[in-house]
Amino acid sequence: MRHSIRPKNVRAACAALVLALFAATPATAQRGDFTAQTRDAFRIFDNLYYIGVDLVSAYLVTTSEGLIVIDTLFAASSDTLLDNIRAVGFDPDDVEYVFVSHGHGDHAEGAPLLKAATGARVGMTGPDWDMTGQERDMVIADGETVTLGDTTFTFHVTPGHTLGVLSMAFPVRDGESTHNAFMFGGMGLNFSGVDRTEMYIDSVRRVQAMEGIEVNVTNHEGAGQVFARADRLADRATGDPHPFVDPDGFYAWLDTLEANAQVKLEEERAAAN
Ligand SMILES: [Zn+2]
Repeated sequence: MRHSIRPKNVRAACAALVLALFAATPATAQRGDFTAQTRDAFRIFDNLYYIGVDLVSAYLVTTSEGLIVIDTLFAASSDTLLDNIRAVGFDPDDVEYVFVSHGHGDHAEGAPLLKAATGARVGMTGPDWDMTGQERDMVIADGETVTLGDTTFTFHVTPGHTLGVLSMAFPVRDGESTHNAFMFGGMGLNFSGVDRTEMYIDSVRRVQAMEGIEVNVTNHEGAGQVFARADRLADRATGDPHPFVDPDGFYAWLDTLEANAQVKLEEERAAAN
């Protein structure tokens, strides 16, 4: 099977703005190095692992019938991604699905290599398949679900950051408890135009209207304080709440995204006049 890899002009597209808004670059990482990994892959929930690098997230979800990977990093990080799957105790051959949150290179560029290495099916939205220039595999539409063993993903298309941002809801388990996790698939405001900004705001509001989301699984770790929460998780005592279960924090974060986008909308309207 042929795979074309066309690096896009987005090397700094996603993360730069997100980092500016939400977090400082880890002191040990070179700013803008999208391959630097200063933390080992780690477990977040019984069925969820962080397998990304410092500036871009990727996650492994384990199910009763195989593995799911969320996001694929730049192609330069593909070996790291595969090594991280092994490092947390799993076999890349068992990856059945790869879901890509949007078509920018830091999330999508590694998809052909990951598919070739694992045989998994790769899913993203139609518009974002087109963006990548990759050969289409699964085309995911709003409201669709994919079930693998005991785990169902529910997809929501939330355009704005790109035209086909793919958000996803799925369960995470902590012992006897199951929690509703959600990835908002594209949060940066590095696009232009009144229409696109309104589209983004509509998407944020759609997610705000969804009830019961408890865990923010962000595709750049700083946006969800993933590493900071992981530190708290490592120090968690028996009976303590899980530091990633933070529904108030999730909805407050959406409020921040919307407020920032409203500022951008005013600027876009002013520029259009
Ligand atoms: Zn992006």
